[in-house]
Amino acid sequence: MGRPFCIIGALPEKNHIDSFWRNVEKSNGCWLWVGKKSKRGYGELQVNKKYWSAHRFSYRLSNGRIYRSLDVLHSCDTPLCVNSKHLSQGTQIENWKQAIKRGRYKAKLDFSKAQEIRFLHPRVSQYELSRKFSVSQAQICAVLKNKYWRPEIWA
Ligand SMILES: [Zn+2]
Repeated sequence: MGRPFCIIGALPEKNHIDSFWRNVEKSNGCWLWVGKKSKRGYGELQVNKKYWSAHRFSYRLSNGRIYRSLDVLHSCDTPLCVNSKHLSQGTQIENWKQAIKRGRYKAKLDFSKAQEIRFLHPRVSQYELSRKFSVSQAQICAVLKNKYWRPEIWA
């Protein structure tokens, strides 16, 4: 795996930073973005004709740099939160792991999920997979041994 690309360019200009903070409601916990929202439910702002997620902008502001290929994750599970103390960068798999911990995934298995399980294993453990897909570890094991949803039949 190559190194994720790191952006260290100039920080946003003062007028962009000012308009960012005008759209933030600070409290003791989460700082909520009250400006424009994207379709995916994240805060959104425009900087030099480029759209930024508000939480990515906030992360960049407080850290001075951002890995373009990595997501910025919320430890508070609040998409509109821009409190940099609640933000960190991680990979998609870490993102899943966090979601699994909070019990976000409830669906049962189907062929595409079985393929996903085969793809994720062993980077994601059988235990974590069973929690992600809300099935027993025995079922995860059966998928991995191609007892269910065999690729050559279903692909
Ligand atoms: Zn938060």
